[in-house]
Amino acid sequence: MTSTAPHPLLDLPPLTAERFASIERGVADLLSTRQDVVITQGEALLPLEGCIRSGARPGSTALNIVTGPYGTTFGNWLRDCGATVVDLAVPFDTAVSAEQVARALAAHPQTDFVSLVHAEAATGNTNPVAEIGEVVREHGALFMLDAVASVGAEPLLPDAWGVDLCVIGAQKAMGGPAGVSAVSVSERAWDRFARNPAAPRRSYLSLLDWKERWIDGGRTTLPHAPAQLEMLALEACLARIAEEGPAAAAARHAAAAAATRAGSVALGVAPYVHDAGDAAPVATTLRVADASAVAAKALAADPRVPLAAGGGALAQEMIRVNHYGPAASLDVVRASLSALAAALSVPAAPALEAAGAAWG
Ligand SMILES: *Cc1c(COP(=O)(O)O)cnc(C)c1O
Repeated sequence: MTSTAPHPLLDLPPLTAERFASIERGVADLLSTRQDVVITQGEALLPLEGCIRSGARPGSTALNIVTGPYGTTFGNWLRDCGATVVDLAVPFDTAVSAEQVARALAAHPQTDFVSLVHAEAATGNTNPVAEIGEVVREHGALFMLDAVASVGAEPLLPDAWGVDLCVIGAQKAMGGPAGVSAVSVSERAWDRFARNPAAPRRSYLSLLDWKERWIDGGRTTLPHAPAQLEMLALEACLARIAEEGPAAAAARHAAAAAATRAGSVALGVAPYVHDAGDAAPVATTLRVADASAVAAKALAADPRVPLAAGGGALAQEMIRVNHYGPAASLDVVRASLSALAAALSVPAAPALEAAGAAWG
């Protein structure tokens, strides 16, 4: 093969504005949203940071709900923007309740921005966004949701839930690459951004640039060369989810979570998230002593299983079993449980039986 031989991934025709706009509509359909969708050509931290820097400013007060590690990142950005930040932190092995959010808003009535993570892949919990959204809407603050780990894995209805900024990424339950993400932006949020002199403009972080150059221009001319491979991958993710059906995909992820939880209990391992109702469909976290060593043994037993020790301080006490995208299957869950059984030197059979029963 010569260096000029055609290559299926490299020698592609240009991605047109029409195709880009149609992928955007696919994201809007997936989110059942009538708001504008901006596709951001970078990992999901790009739109998350863009939303915070566009929405927050000196003089604003933000209620930052911390139910896992990303909340800390959001709080740091909010402070960097000069906002007064009220952190509402709950233990990572539970979910925040709408009552807790209502109390925090009542104690800080000047709050004009609320940030929340829907599902936490790193800690395995998920939050009741519909109920929290009702409370936030009643209060009137702008509501940003990080739905990177929930999209494709559980119901996600930003418009019905009063979410002004719903950020998703392709790399978790959508089963795609990490290099593309998106955000739905409400009219209220656009107004707020436009009135914020500190909002990024003429910047890669700027959502307003996309509104002015792309959306308001009728989506005819892309402001710069599209990240073509990521866009095509996102299009393929959307097609695959549409083919399965979002409800079926959510049911498959819920089954994977239930099977992993039941199987782990049968291995004698306690789930990290106490209440099954607070457990995320995307990943199951487990309380395991000496977790790093156990994860290493499990991966030595089967290098393909999607499990890892917890990040940072959790590395010694938590194992995270991922089951998202194509890995939300009974076969993969069984493989993860078998590898864990090998690492813990306990029989796998009861766990496999419990997982099969819970899947059904
Ligand atoms: C995965 C994830 C992201 C994206 O961050 P990465 O550092 O690329 O993993 C953002 N938010 C949440 C809640 C996630 O689970």
